[in-house]
Amino acid sequence: MAKPASRIEKIPPYLFARIDKKKTEARKRGIDLIDFGIGDPDIPTPQNIINAMDKAVADPKNHRYPSYEGLFEYRKAVADWYLTRFNVSLNPETEVVTLIGSKEGIAHIPWAYIETGDIALIPSPGYPVYKITTLLAGGTPYIMPLLEENRFLPRFDLIPEDVLKKAKIMFINYPNNPTGACADDAFYENALAVARKYDILICHDAAYSEIAYDGYNPRSILEFDKEKNHSIEFHSLSKTYCMTGWRIGFAVGNRDAIYNLGKLKTNIDSGVFQAIQYAGIEALTGNQSSVDNMKQTFQRRRDLVVDGLLSAGIQVEKPRATFYIWAKVPQGYTSADFCEKLIEETGIVVTPGSGFGDEGEGYFRISITINEERIAEAIKRLKAVKL
Ligand SMILES: *Cc1c(COP(=O)(O)O)cnc(C)c1O
Repeated sequence: MAKPASRIEKIPPYLFARIDKKKTEARKRGIDLIDFGIGDPDIPTPQNIINAMDKAVADPKNHRYPSYEGLFEYRKAVADWYLTRFNVSLNPETEVVTLIGSKEGIAHIPWAYIETGDIALIPSPGYPVYKITTLLAGGTPYIMPLLEENRFLPRFDLIPEDVLKKAKIMFINYPNNPTGACADDAFYENALAVARKYDILICHDAAYSEIAYDGYNPRSILEFDKEKNHSIEFHSLSKTYCMTGWRIGFAVGNRDAIYNLGKLKTNIDSGVFQAIQYAGIEALTGNQSSVDNMKQTFQRRRDLVVDGLLSAGIQVEKPRATFYIWAKVPQGYTSADFCEKLIEETGIVVTPGSGFGDEGEGYFRISITINEERIAEAIKRLKAVKL
């Protein structure tokens, strides 16, 4: 058998393997698992989007190769949505590219900007793709710790000058997965000041920009980077419209970054199935009441889970956005040990914080993508167990 490339060997082993094993064992013992592990909405895709897909799928013109950069109508719908949502104008021809889900764009951007040895600034805990794709592209990740004492925002003033000089790109992600943290305006200004000084491309992952509560409205980095000189922003229809399985998103921002990402993509993929792009247009331009309903559902679940955790003696803060709750592991456990104990003794599955990077140790993540009845059952079980 051929030996795999060393870049494959560089990928760290799958950190959730232990948890998966415990899940399988618990299931075999007949335990009824309540799975708060995966960040995948349980709410179905809204009907108006499904109807648009139905119509588009029947049209033979959509059965052929799509254009690489995406339908103009889709990119126009993105630009219109952006203007309404953030009051930022985008040229749909040059400042928008369609993605096969935002993960695809996030995974590809380092290939367009990182040379061997170049540094990418990566938050930890964080979405694992930032670090792995940097390693695959031959880059060197430099970890920016997200600590509770800094409200889970990176401290740019602690990054050494020589690191900043070698850095080509910086990943940031607010509202944040896994911490649920949100960035204030000053944070975006600070990040852009660093980017301007050291010529760094900021890659803002805004997958949760629409999932916020209590009247909070997350910002786009392009509201601050008015010239669009230093940033590209990744958006997803997955979370906003409960479309994780459909695979559609978009990137917007600096035209060179959009061009270079697009150029790379023309050599790798052949775009998004056009019927899905028409469904995406309906999602972005159609009735948005489904988004409001979804937010209300998540907000109720968030309140239930946070109150339940507090009553079980677990330290946690209410997130203002995302469908994640980032909670402290009780004294005396590592993240992995605590998560294993929960599965074994209660059938509750949560994700160990350490799976998102070393800086996530001491925490666990709850994804509130299960219904209120099951949440109530989980809280009952949690209160009954000795922690
Ligand atoms: C879910 C998620 C994504 C990827 O979403 P897709 O558009 O489905 O690829 C990107 N970033 C973060 C932080 C996520 O949680």
